[in-house]
Amino acid sequence: MPIYLDYNATTPVDRRVLDAMLPYLGETFGNASSIHSAGQHARAAVDAARESVALLIGARPAEIVFTSGGTEADNLALLGAIQGSSKPRKHVITTSIEHHAVLNTCQALEQRGIEITYVGVGDDGIVDPGDVRRALKPETVLISVMHANNETGAIQPVEAIGQIAADAGVYFHSDAVQSAGKLPIDVDHLHADLLSLSAHKIYGPKGVGALYVRSGTPVEPQLFGGHHQRDLRPGTENVPGIVGLGKAAELARLDRDEDCARIAVLRDRLEDSLLSAIGSVRVNGDRQRRVSNTTNLAFAGAGGEALLIALDLQGLACSTGAACSSGAVEPSHVLTAMGLSSEEARSSLRFSLGRDTTGEEIDEAMAKIPRAVARIRALSPASKTPVLAR
Ligand code: PLP
Repeated sequence: MPIYLDYNATTPVDRRVLDAMLPYLGETFGNASSIHSAGQHARAAVDAARESVALLIGARPAEIVFTSGGTEADNLALLGAIQGSSKPRKHVITTSIEHHAVLNTCQALEQRGIEITYVGVGDDGIVDPGDVRRALKPETVLISVMHANNETGAIQPVEAIGQIAADAGVYFHSDAVQSAGKLPIDVDHLHADLLSLSAHKIYGPKGVGALYVRSGTPVEPQLFGGHHQRDLRPGTENVPGIVGLGKAAELARLDRDEDCARIAVLRDRLEDSLLSAIGSVRVNGDRQRRVSNTTNLAFAGAGGEALLIALDLQGLACSTGAACSSGAVEPSHVLTAMGLSSEEARSSLRFSLGRDTTGEEIDEAMAKIPRAVARIRALSPASKTPVLAR
């Protein structure tokens, strides 16, 4: 059986989620906007899911807007809040380690004349709230900082940043796609006005997510159609997907502590073993302030792409943070923002564990990864004696 250590990319649909969804792909197929009883069944299921998602993050059900995923939630948060602001000049503060769903939306805003400040991070992968405070301007409309980073797992000080936003009277958005199910989330505690979630990172289906919009936050819709979801996100609701998100949110709330405690032990065992079995390997980012399932390692002198392919051939799935842009493989923007050289970033791999990861799989991974690193290093003439630059 292949070993899947890429849960930050996506998770399998939990059997309990699938069972909850199946009736809505079959006999209970009504349109949630229809007045007849088939429609009412669908509406009740959507409402129950809305309550479950709200409960996960300490929100009220009316503050949850279902979307097609984390990307759309991030787009709606940023584009909608900027358009909803009455300030004549507009400025946004974000960070250089955000997911492209935020970064590329910011780029699109820049093309529309909105000023964006990209706050950096330390070599621990963590944003300094002081840097966010210093970036504030009278024109600042919104601060957007992710809760946990998808590549390193680094937990950002979103509570302090939310407080800075609240004190300055600007809106605060947090992309919580990677923290849901891994960290407690309370929108009041975080002072969040907007918060993004995605079902497929928490054992739900792909193509469905949610945006929390604090009551009274002026967000303009970015799609136009029927009067669904209080005109903020038109379109016939994806009832099976929404039911799946609702069930996944319930499981994330109920199973989180137990899952995370078990997964942390496995992650630490894998990491400690690789650090002792392989020379010139380093953990990227802070080992304490990160979610329990992620380890990002730099294997000096071993190309991450080659390593990933070698491991895939051995039946082990993991990930590089590299992005393909116009045919060229760019090193991870997260790792380079942390001060890694392009080469160091290119020699890094992310292993992310999940609900179904077993001790036996970790034992196998502990055997396979050092062998693959040795093989790739041996093939790389430039790295006969791998040395870390720092
Ligand atoms: N934000 C973060 C931090 C993510 O990790 C991802 C997915 O990789 C997204 C947003 C995008 O979510 P989706 O795949 O649901 O569009």
